[in-house]
Amino acid sequence: MTAYDRECLYCHKPFTAHSSNAKFDTSACRARWRRKKERDSKADDSSEPEKPPVAGVSSVTDSVLAEIERLGVASSVSAALALAAARGIDDVDTGGTAKAALIRSLQQILAELRNVDDGDDELAKIISDDTGDG
Ligand SMILES: [Zn+2]
Repeated sequence: MTAYDRECLYCHKPFTAHSSNAKFDTSACRARWRRKKERDSKADDSSEPEKPPVAGVSSVTDSVLAEIERLGVASSVSAALALAAARGIDDVDTGGTAKAALIRSLQQILAELRNVDDGDDELAKIISDDTGDG
């Protein structure tokens, strides 16, 4: 039997082949090499961009962030609380009961934030009504 001193095309390890046209030391290397070649040629043909893993569904956190921006209260403590609640609602690990509680407190915080935003005039009117009568 004739032996041939070869180097594996894939892992470049020297090996002793028993056939003159052997190019790989193992069949695994041959399979990997073929797969690699297929991938390379595919990459050359069409450079399709990989889709980002982000889902198209807008999260609660995103809408709360937008609402906070709209109200201009991003630096307030209530905004931070609302965001924390929103993240908890978005968290897949949050259980149903905890999520319901978070949604309730988030709605409350958002309502308070909205009142702070445009409730000043009304509050001032009530105060002036109360004191301006005398
Ligand atoms: Zn090899």
